[in-house]
Amino acid sequence: MRKCALVTGGSRGIGRAVAVTLAADLGLHILINYASNDSAAEETKKQIEEVGGTAELLKFQVQDHAEVEKTLSDWLANNKESKVEVLVNNAGITRDNLMVFMEEKDFDDVVQTSLKGMYNVTRHLLQHFVRNRAGRIINMASLSGLKGVPGQVNYSAAKGGMIAATKALSQELAKRKITVNAVAPGFITSDMTQDLNEDELKKLVPMNRFGSAQEVADLVSFLASPKASYITGEVININGGLYS
Ligand code: NAP
Repeated sequence: MRKCALVTGGSRGIGRAVAVTLAADLGLHILINYASNDSAAEETKKQIEEVGGTAELLKFQVQDHAEVEKTLSDWLANNKESKVEVLVNNAGITRDNLMVFMEEKDFDDVVQTSLKGMYNVTRHLLQHFVRNRAGRIINMASLSGLKGVPGQVNYSAAKGGMIAATKALSQELAKRKITVNAVAPGFITSDMTQDLNEDELKKLVPMNRFGSAQEVADLVSFLASPKASYITGEVININGGLYS
Protein backbone atom coordinates (compact mmCIF):
# COMPACT_ATOMS: atom_id res chain seq x y z
CA MET A 1 0.00 0.00 0.00
CA ARG A 2 1.36 3.37 -1.01
CA LYS A 3 0.72 5.99 1.70
CA CYS A 4 -0.29 9.42 0.46
CA ALA A 5 -1.02 12.94 1.63
CA LEU A 6 -3.34 15.38 -0.12
CA VAL A 7 -2.32 19.00 0.34
CA THR A 8 -4.85 21.52 -0.96
CA GLY A 9 -3.29 24.74 -2.19
CA GLY A 10 0.01 22.88 -2.48
CA SER A 11 1.40 24.88 -5.39
CA ARG A 12 2.72 27.86 -3.48
CA GLY A 13 3.58 29.31 -0.08
CA ILE A 14 2.73 27.35 3.04
CA GLY A 15 1.13 24.52 1.05
CA ARG A 16 4.27 23.98 -1.00
CA ALA A 17 6.45 23.85 2.12
CA VAL A 18 3.99 21.40 3.71
CA ALA A 19 3.99 19.19 0.61
CA VAL A 20 7.80 19.01 0.42
CA THR A 21 8.18 18.47 4.18
CA LEU A 22 5.60 15.67 4.37
CA ALA A 23 7.41 13.90 1.54
CA ALA A 24 10.83 14.39 3.15
CA ASP A 25 9.88 13.64 6.78
CA LEU A 26 7.23 10.95 6.41
CA GLY A 27 7.95 9.45 2.97
CA LEU A 28 4.39 10.08 1.79
CA HIS A 29 3.44 10.27 -1.89
CA ILE A 30 2.04 13.79 -2.26
CA LEU A 31 -1.10 14.81 -4.14
CA ILE A 32 -0.57 18.47 -4.91
CA ASN A 33 -3.89 20.23 -5.29
CA TYR A 34 -4.05 23.76 -6.67
CA ALA A 35 -6.50 26.06 -8.45
CA SER A 36 -4.78 27.43 -11.57
CA ASN A 37 -1.03 27.96 -11.33
CA ASP A 38 0.32 24.94 -13.26
CA SER A 39 3.96 26.05 -13.26
CA ALA A 40 4.00 26.67 -9.51
CA ALA A 41 2.49 23.22 -8.92
CA GLU A 42 5.15 21.68 -11.20
CA GLU A 43 7.81 23.48 -9.15
CA THR A 44 6.42 21.91 -5.93
CA LYS A 45 6.58 18.49 -7.59
CA LYS A 46 10.18 19.14 -8.65
CA GLN A 47 11.15 20.16 -5.11
CA ILE A 48 9.55 16.97 -3.74
CA GLU A 49 11.52 14.87 -6.22
CA GLU A 50 14.70 16.70 -5.21
CA VAL A 51 14.25 15.47 -1.62
CA GLY A 52 13.76 11.92 -2.91
CA GLY A 53 9.95 11.91 -2.79
CA THR A 54 7.17 11.34 -5.30
CA ALA A 55 4.18 13.49 -6.16
CA GLU A 56 1.47 14.15 -8.69
CA LEU A 57 -0.71 17.14 -9.50
CA LEU A 58 -4.43 17.14 -8.74
CA LYS A 59 -5.94 20.35 -10.07
CA PHE A 60 -9.40 21.27 -8.79
CA GLN A 61 -11.24 24.17 -7.22
CA VAL A 62 -11.86 23.18 -3.61
CA GLN A 63 -15.09 25.17 -3.46
CA ASP A 64 -16.63 23.27 -6.39
CA HIS A 65 -18.36 20.30 -4.78
CA ALA A 66 -18.99 18.42 -8.03
CA GLU A 67 -15.44 18.92 -9.28
CA VAL A 68 -13.97 17.74 -5.96
CA GLU A 69 -16.22 14.65 -5.99
CA LYS A 70 -15.32 13.74 -9.56
CA THR A 71 -11.57 14.31 -9.25
CA LEU A 72 -11.21 12.47 -5.96
CA SER A 73 -13.47 9.54 -6.81
CA ASP A 74 -11.67 9.04 -10.14
CA TRP A 75 -8.33 9.22 -8.39
CA LEU A 76 -9.34 6.72 -5.68
CA ALA A 77 -10.80 4.33 -8.29
CA ASN A 78 -7.57 4.46 -10.32
CA ASN A 79 -5.27 4.12 -7.30
CA LYS A 80 -6.63 1.16 -5.34
CA GLU A 81 -3.16 0.37 -4.02
CA SER A 82 -2.91 3.79 -2.42
CA LYS A 83 -4.10 4.96 0.96
CA VAL A 84 -4.57 8.64 1.67
CA GLU A 85 -3.51 8.98 5.31
CA VAL A 86 -3.02 12.72 5.60
CA LEU A 87 -5.23 15.57 4.42
CA VAL A 88 -4.06 19.14 4.80
CA ASN A 89 -6.87 21.61 4.07
CA ASN A 90 -4.63 24.53 3.24
CA ALA A 91 -6.21 26.24 0.21
CA GLY A 92 -7.32 29.74 1.10
CA ILE A 93 -7.66 33.26 -0.23
CA THR A 94 -8.11 36.75 1.19
CA ARG A 95 -10.34 39.56 -0.12
CA ASP A 96 -9.75 42.16 2.59
CA ASN A 97 -11.94 45.21 3.07
CA LEU A 98 -13.81 46.91 5.86
CA MET A 99 -17.22 45.30 6.16
CA VAL A 100 -18.97 48.53 5.23
CA PHE A 101 -17.33 48.28 1.79
CA MET A 102 -17.27 44.48 1.48
CA GLU A 103 -19.09 43.14 -1.58
CA GLU A 104 -21.16 39.98 -1.22
CA LYS A 105 -18.90 38.18 -3.70
CA ASP A 106 -15.82 38.87 -1.59
CA PHE A 107 -17.53 37.47 1.47
CA ASP A 108 -18.78 34.41 -0.38
CA ASP A 109 -15.52 33.63 -2.22
CA VAL A 110 -13.45 33.64 0.95
CA VAL A 111 -15.92 31.52 2.92
CA GLN A 112 -16.43 29.14 0.00
CA THR A 113 -12.70 28.56 -0.49
CA SER A 114 -11.57 28.08 3.10
CA LEU A 115 -14.63 26.73 4.85
CA LYS A 116 -16.74 25.06 2.18
CA GLY A 117 -13.55 23.81 0.49
CA MET A 118 -12.58 22.09 3.73
CA TYR A 119 -16.04 20.48 3.89
CA ASN A 120 -15.95 19.35 0.25
CA VAL A 121 -12.55 17.68 0.34
CA THR A 122 -12.83 16.22 3.84
CA ARG A 123 -16.35 14.91 3.24
CA HIS A 124 -15.21 13.02 0.21
CA LEU A 125 -12.24 11.38 1.93
CA LEU A 126 -13.96 10.54 5.22
CA GLN A 127 -15.20 7.08 4.23
CA HIS A 128 -11.73 6.27 2.92
CA PHE A 129 -10.22 7.30 6.28
CA VAL A 130 -12.85 5.44 8.28
CA ARG A 131 -12.39 2.26 6.21
CA ASN A 132 -8.63 2.43 6.79
CA ARG A 133 -9.06 3.28 10.48
CA ALA A 134 -6.27 5.81 10.05
CA GLY A 135 -6.03 9.42 9.16
CA ARG A 136 -4.71 12.81 10.01
CA ILE A 137 -6.70 15.90 9.05
CA ILE A 138 -4.95 19.22 9.49
CA ASN A 139 -6.86 22.43 8.80
CA MET A 140 -4.97 25.62 8.00
CA ALA A 141 -6.81 28.22 10.07
CA SER A 142 -5.38 31.59 11.09
CA LEU A 143 -4.90 33.96 13.99
CA SER A 144 -7.68 35.88 12.24
CA GLY A 145 -10.12 33.05 13.05
CA LEU A 146 -9.28 33.21 16.76
CA LYS A 147 -8.75 36.90 17.46
CA GLY A 148 -10.74 38.48 14.63
CA VAL A 149 -8.91 41.02 12.47
CA PRO A 150 -10.49 44.28 11.25
CA GLY A 151 -10.72 44.35 7.46
CA GLN A 152 -11.05 40.57 7.43
CA VAL A 153 -14.61 39.87 8.54
CA ASN A 154 -14.98 37.37 5.69
CA TYR A 155 -11.64 35.67 6.38
CA SER A 156 -12.10 35.69 10.18
CA ALA A 157 -15.54 34.10 9.71
CA ALA A 158 -14.17 31.43 7.39
CA LYS A 159 -11.21 30.58 9.63
CA GLY A 160 -13.30 30.76 12.82
CA GLY A 161 -15.75 28.36 11.22
CA MET A 162 -12.90 26.08 10.29
CA ILE A 163 -11.70 26.03 13.91
CA ALA A 164 -15.17 25.15 15.23
CA ALA A 165 -15.55 22.46 12.57
CA THR A 166 -12.15 21.03 13.57
CA LYS A 167 -13.30 20.65 17.17
CA ALA A 168 -16.63 19.06 16.18
CA LEU A 169 -15.17 16.64 13.63
CA SER A 170 -12.37 15.57 15.96
CA GLN A 171 -15.01 14.26 18.39
CA GLU A 172 -16.83 12.40 15.61
CA LEU A 173 -13.68 10.63 14.47
CA ALA A 174 -11.63 10.04 17.62
CA LYS A 175 -12.85 6.45 18.07
CA ARG A 176 -11.69 5.64 14.55
CA LYS A 177 -8.10 6.68 15.26
CA ILE A 178 -8.45 9.69 13.00
CA THR A 179 -7.18 12.98 14.41
CA VAL A 180 -8.37 16.41 13.36
CA ASN A 181 -6.39 19.51 14.31
CA ALA A 182 -6.04 23.09 13.18
CA VAL A 183 -2.98 25.26 12.82
CA ALA A 184 -3.35 29.01 13.30
CA PRO A 185 -0.46 30.97 11.78
CA GLY A 186 0.12 34.67 12.37
CA PHE A 187 2.09 36.64 9.76
CA ILE A 188 3.90 34.22 7.45
CA THR A 189 5.97 35.35 4.47
CA SER A 190 4.20 34.22 1.27
CA ASP A 191 2.40 35.60 -1.79
CA MET A 192 -0.64 36.17 0.45
CA THR A 193 1.26 38.64 2.64
CA GLN A 194 3.53 40.19 0.00
CA ASP A 195 1.55 43.46 -0.16
CA LEU A 196 1.62 43.99 3.61
CA ASN A 197 4.08 46.43 5.15
CA GLU A 198 6.32 43.84 6.78
CA ASP A 199 8.68 46.38 8.37
CA GLU A 200 5.78 48.00 10.23
CA LEU A 201 3.77 44.87 11.04
CA LYS A 202 6.70 42.88 12.37
CA LYS A 203 6.95 45.42 15.21
CA LEU A 204 3.67 43.98 16.51
CA VAL A 205 5.23 40.52 16.77
CA PRO A 206 7.18 39.81 19.98
CA MET A 207 9.73 37.87 17.93
CA ASN A 208 10.01 40.93 15.67
CA ARG A 209 9.72 39.00 12.41
CA PHE A 210 7.28 37.21 10.15
CA GLY A 211 7.34 33.41 10.25
CA SER A 212 8.39 31.24 7.35
CA ALA A 213 6.32 28.71 5.45
CA GLN A 214 8.87 26.09 6.55
CA GLU A 215 8.17 26.79 10.23
CA VAL A 216 4.46 26.14 9.63
CA ALA A 217 5.28 23.04 7.58
CA ASP A 218 7.34 21.59 10.42
CA LEU A 219 4.35 21.91 12.76
CA VAL A 220 2.04 20.27 10.22
CA SER A 221 4.55 17.48 9.71
CA PHE A 222 4.61 16.81 13.45
CA LEU A 223 0.79 16.72 13.61
CA ALA A 224 0.75 14.31 10.66
CA SER A 225 3.34 12.01 12.24
CA PRO A 226 2.82 9.07 14.61
CA LYS A 227 4.34 11.26 17.35
CA ALA A 228 1.08 13.27 17.47
CA SER A 229 -1.25 10.29 17.82
CA TYR A 230 -2.95 11.53 21.04
CA ILE A 231 -3.48 15.12 19.92
CA THR A 232 -6.90 15.87 18.46
CA GLY A 233 -9.35 18.77 18.39
CA GLU A 234 -6.55 21.26 19.03
CA VAL A 235 -5.81 24.63 17.49
CA ILE A 236 -2.10 25.29 17.58
CA ASN A 237 -0.90 28.88 17.29
CA ILE A 238 2.26 29.60 15.34
CA ASN A 239 2.70 33.35 15.44
CA GLY A 240 5.95 34.41 17.13
CA GLY A 241 4.08 35.36 20.31
CA LEU A 242 1.63 37.73 18.61
CA TYR A 243 -1.47 36.17 20.17
CA SER A 244 -2.21 33.25 22.47
P1 NAP B 1 -0.71 31.67 -1.05
O1 NAP B 1 0.77 31.83 -1.12
O2 NAP B 1 -1.58 32.72 -1.60
O3 NAP B 1 -1.09 30.25 -1.71
C1 NAP B 1 -2.44 29.89 -1.81
C2 NAP B 1 -2.53 28.47 -2.33
O4 NAP B 1 -3.92 28.09 -2.33
C3 NAP B 1 -2.05 28.32 -3.76
O5 NAP B 1 -1.47 27.05 -3.88
C4 NAP B 1 -3.35 28.40 -4.57
O6 NAP B 1 -3.29 27.73 -5.83
C5 NAP B 1 -4.28 27.67 -3.64
N1 NAP B 1 -5.69 27.99 -3.87
C6 NAP B 1 -6.29 29.21 -3.80
N2 NAP B 1 -7.59 29.10 -4.08
C7 NAP B 1 -7.83 27.78 -4.35
C8 NAP B 1 -8.97 27.04 -4.72
N3 NAP B 1 -10.15 27.63 -4.87
N4 NAP B 1 -8.84 25.70 -4.92
C9 NAP B 1 -7.64 25.09 -4.77
N5 NAP B 1 -6.52 25.74 -4.40
C10 NAP B 1 -6.62 27.06 -4.20
O7 NAP B 1 -1.19 31.50 0.47
P2 NAP B 1 -0.37 31.05 1.79
O8 NAP B 1 0.10 32.27 2.47
O9 NAP B 1 0.57 29.96 1.47
O10 NAP B 1 -1.60 30.50 2.67
C11 NAP B 1 -1.91 29.13 2.75
C12 NAP B 1 -2.98 28.95 3.82
O11 NAP B 1 -2.49 29.46 5.06
C13 NAP B 1 -4.28 29.70 3.52
O12 NAP B 1 -5.38 28.94 3.95
C14 NAP B 1 -4.14 30.94 4.38
O13 NAP B 1 -5.41 31.46 4.71
C15 NAP B 1 -3.41 30.39 5.59
N6 NAP B 1 -2.72 31.41 6.35
C16 NAP B 1 -1.72 32.15 5.79
C17 NAP B 1 -1.08 33.11 6.55
C18 NAP B 1 0.04 33.98 6.01
O14 NAP B 1 0.46 34.90 6.70
N7 NAP B 1 0.55 33.72 4.80
C19 NAP B 1 -1.45 33.32 7.89
C20 NAP B 1 -2.47 32.54 8.41
C21 NAP B 1 -3.09 31.58 7.64
P3 NAP B 1 -2.77 28.48 -7.19
O15 NAP B 1 -1.28 28.52 -7.08
O16 NAP B 1 -3.24 27.59 -8.30
O17 NAP B 1 -3.39 29.84 -7.17
